[in-house]
Amino acid sequence: MLALTFQGIEQVGCQTLEDPRIELPGDAIVAVRLAGVCGSDLHVFHGRETGLDPGTAMGHEFVGEVIETGRDVDRIQKGSLVVSPFTTSCGECELCLAGLTARCRRGELFGWRQRGAGLHGAQAEMIRVPLADSTLVEVPPGISPENALLAGDVLSTGYFCAHQGGVEAGCVVAVVGCGPVGLMAVLAAQRLGAERVFAIDPVLERLELAARFGAEPVNLQHSSAEEIILEATQGLGVHVVLEAVGSPQASLLAMGLVRPGGTISAVGVHTEPQFAFSPAEAYDKNLTYKIGRCSARKFMDTILPWLADSDLDPAVIISHRLPLAEGPRAYEIFAEKLESCTKAVLTP
Ligand code: NAD
Ligand code: ZN
Repeated sequence: MLALTFQGIEQVGCQTLEDPRIELPGDAIVAVRLAGVCGSDLHVFHGRETGLDPGTAMGHEFVGEVIETGRDVDRIQKGSLVVSPFTTSCGECELCLAGLTARCRRGELFGWRQRGAGLHGAQAEMIRVPLADSTLVEVPPGISPENALLAGDVLSTGYFCAHQGGVEAGCVVAVVGCGPVGLMAVLAAQRLGAERVFAIDPVLERLELAARFGAEPVNLQHSSAEEIILEATQGLGVHVVLEAVGSPQASLLAMGLVRPGGTISAVGVHTEPQFAFSPAEAYDKNLTYKIGRCSARKFMDTILPWLADSDLDPAVIISHRLPLAEGPRAYEIFAEKLESCTKAVLTP
């Protein structure tokens, strides 16, 4: 099969990999119809996250058709259109039962192979999905495949970010970073009742989408987010910062925007070894800081009904739909924010 593989820092390319096959009785093989390129892929692409074996198929966001199932798979049917969260989960270990499917004891991240072990990713014609019954979800009727794709990662992650931040009615919220995840956090904060949502980014098209989703855009190219937001909140800062970047600069900005007693909820993947702010600064703000990987499989149970019951169309953020063979270009334009790219989806 054709797959878009990691070949070195800032090098992805199409190569032929062996077709995946059932290896364990709980596996399914899915023919990928849509595969997202995610900000998380960019950490690997740019070499901030290291250890991935060259030759690994990239990507962890997908919707596709089940074409084969192992003998223990009984909930997921051959022929179904399914969406996957970005990690597998067993649904029955202590962590899954506690709702932490992202940290399932048997779970694995798609598109992560290190020293020969792990799973190939979804930017390929086919993918092997272990623990298929407890990982995959059939795309419910009435939900477009593109919206389902977003539910498997960025929409769940945006919702998780707002949820773990404790956003509730009356909150003033600042979203740091308006990539796909931050944009979904804008939608989620409103869903949870936020009174005002400031959306911060240096890229105009992304801010325009945030404004379309009801946020008040703050363009870092032209203004100081701290000045604008402190002025709008009587010098106090916001109740909750939703940080969807994953950099020391973003952490520092979040710290500058949060009010005493407030919460920073970070879903940006941080690869730096130390916090950008000190324990003393956190102490002085009575800060609550929450961070981590989204348990997308759990949150999909909230997100898919939300999509089905509303006229919400988060897929408007998808600016580019490209064949798998144009994967390298998809990475380039998404990473460099060329051609007004806000989200790229590959169609194997
Ligand atoms: P993205 O790279 O498209 O988005 C990042 C956005 O942040 C861009 O629009 C960029 O212009 C903006 N930005 C950069 N520096 C900034 C700063 N200092 N202040 C404000 N904005 C800034 O990627 P994405 O797909 O939206 O992903 C965002 C982050 O979320 C990534 O770190 C990704 O790895 C992470 N992520 C985490 C999870 C999870 O489970 N925790 C899941 C999915 C993605
Ligand atoms: Zn992702």
